[in-house]
Amino acid sequence: MSQSQQQNAPKGPSDVGIRIVSEALAEELVTRDLAFEAVEAVFAAMAREEARNFPVVREQLGHADAVYGFKSGFDRSGLVLGLKAGGYWPGNADKGLTNHQSTVCLFDPDTGRLAALVAGNYLTAVRTAASSAVSIAHLARKDAKTLGMVGAGHQSSFQLRAAVERRSFERVVAWNPHPDMLPRLRSVAEELGLAFEAVSAEALGGEADVIITITSAFEPLLQKDWIRPGTHIACMGTDTVGKQEVDAALLGAATVFTDEVAQSVSLGEAQHAVADGSLAEGDITPIGRVIDAQHPGRASDDEITLFDGTGVGLQDLAVAALAARLCEEHGRGESIAF
Ligand code: NAD
Repeated sequence: MSQSQQQNAPKGPSDVGIRIVSEALAEELVTRDLAFEAVEAVFAAMAREEARNFPVVREQLGHADAVYGFKSGFDRSGLVLGLKAGGYWPGNADKGLTNHQSTVCLFDPDTGRLAALVAGNYLTAVRTAASSAVSIAHLARKDAKTLGMVGAGHQSSFQLRAAVERRSFERVVAWNPHPDMLPRLRSVAEELGLAFEAVSAEALGGEADVIITITSAFEPLLQKDWIRPGTHIACMGTDTVGKQEVDAALLGAATVFTDEVAQSVSLGEAQHAVADGSLAEGDITPIGRVIDAQHPGRASDDEITLFDGTGVGLQDLAVAALAARLCEEHGRGESIAF
């Protein structure tokens, strides 16, 4: 074989590298703004049917009290193929680890070869916050000043930081079923230069222009009658059958948007309203249609808009692919033969 023939010969599997993106690198490279753009773009691709989520697998392990599963999909427009594997291990905190653990595998859509392994814990939080931020950017009133936070766990500070970048908020009102968790959220708000007040759930409904719910609740925390006309609500905590954060009647009174209708009606906040007949599946609009200008979004300053952010695999793949691409471009992260 001549020298040029050798150079052009197909590379064997041992010559092909996979990129490893650590938690630290993902956090350094994927900023809130970049995550926002990636999530917004993939929601629009979903609305154009250029990107598709595959059925979710979610199982009780019967070991370590853990819930484990996969979210996967393919974005034909961005050529992103992969899966997120992970779940919830309640005993991890005692071992000094995060209870939620996830890792993204990205594959070359032309060959099926594994292309990157991306740590998914930070990325899950930043993509979830980007999702509600996208809903605020496209659906909240432009003059929104008071942000209401229901929830004060791990995700809540990510949610707060991302939300305040989308409107000129001046004040945060917050309520949490466990009030002892609120000081951490207060310190984030104060770091961002925002006044912070812990209030009752009912008062929060009466004062907030935008509300984010991000709890593990299994019963409604906010009632329909507490919510003012013109409010935008991003329900982000309900991602499992049986969970619920707001009164089902509120979805009947609101104009409802979601990341993916199939998840919204099966495991998202809309599952209860659809089951009791206060909302029809056909009345739920994928937010990608608003982003893609196929739907006008908010119709008036008095309308209550509600975003059911269920969390889809394509969001995970979008931010993981971004992290892998930035590593490639900047020569960061290890590339190992596989
Ligand atoms: P966390 O464990 O850090 O915090 C839990 C929050 O829920 C706290 O505010 C806590 O006070 C509250 N809570 C706990 N048990 C409750 C109960 N029985 N009733 C009412 N409230 C209760 O969790 P986190 O990481 O902040 O996640 C919060 C929620 O968001 C979870 O339900 C999680 O599954 C969900 N989540 C959704 C997405 C998405 O894409 N939509 C992504 C990540 C997490």
